[in-house]
Amino acid sequence: MAVFSTRCRPRGKCSLQTRPRAFHGLSRIDFHGSISTDQGAVHRKFLINPWQIRVAVAFRSRLKDSRLWTGYNSSMIHEILPVGLLQCNCSIIGDEATREAMVIDPGDEIEDVLALVRTHNLQVKQIVITHAHIDHVGGAMKLRAATGAPILLNQNDYALLKMLDVQAAWIGVPAPGKVEIDRSITTGETVSAGSHTAQVLHTPGHTEGSICLYFEPAKKLVAGDTLFAGSIGRTDLPGGDPQKIMRSLHDTVLALPDDTVVIPGHGKLTTIGEEREGNPFLVKR
Ligand SMILES: [Zn+2]
Repeated sequence: MAVFSTRCRPRGKCSLQTRPRAFHGLSRIDFHGSISTDQGAVHRKFLINPWQIRVAVAFRSRLKDSRLWTGYNSSMIHEILPVGLLQCNCSIIGDEATREAMVIDPGDEIEDVLALVRTHNLQVKQIVITHAHIDHVGGAMKLRAATGAPILLNQNDYALLKMLDVQAAWIGVPAPGKVEIDRSITTGETVSAGSHTAQVLHTPGHTEGSICLYFEPAKKLVAGDTLFAGSIGRTDLPGGDPQKIMRSLHDTVLALPDDTVVIPGHGKLTTIGEEREGNPFLVKR
């Protein structure tokens, strides 16, 4: 079953050793508008996510070794590690029986990703990118070099990949260099980590090539920046299209069962049911 396994590090700076990571950490006002508040022992950070359509609450921490969520579900190992300046939710999904794994959206902090892979004694077989924004794809080549696993991305985002240096300038991080894609994936195809298979759902709108990954038996959707808890992906960047994202959300994402757990590209987990009921962008047309 799903359990929070995170700890606040370094120890001693926060007394909430058993709280989920979302309530931990931080520090200062940063350049993209996040603010921090201290509320007694609970330190909260509110981040304005530059990939998200409006101000919404997301959580981040600069503390190393803090996983957002660790889950075990019918032999599925699932680690969610927020990585990089924008705290992209990188998922490591592994099969306890075969030890095969996929890594989704290795945006940065590849040493930490590899440490978790080693912790679970996994072999990374696929690197899957939900869309070609730098915070999701920035560490992919480093991970490929370390594991030999191919990098998969929908071909409609290949143009965005050629703009990684521009994207780096937008958010003020170093350009990661050229990222090579081994194979395009789209609706009708699957990606796998041992016996755990996800359907690829092409959900354009945030970018032309945005995809979601639907693990039907595990009732999980890795949604990239298409859907967030209480918000949706922004559409005003190159390749974005507000009509397309609404079509993707209504026709593809909301077609999934209410009890599907959604792992967004940033911030906290949610469910299809919660977003169907409460997401202000998903009111019935
Ligand atoms: Zn994005």
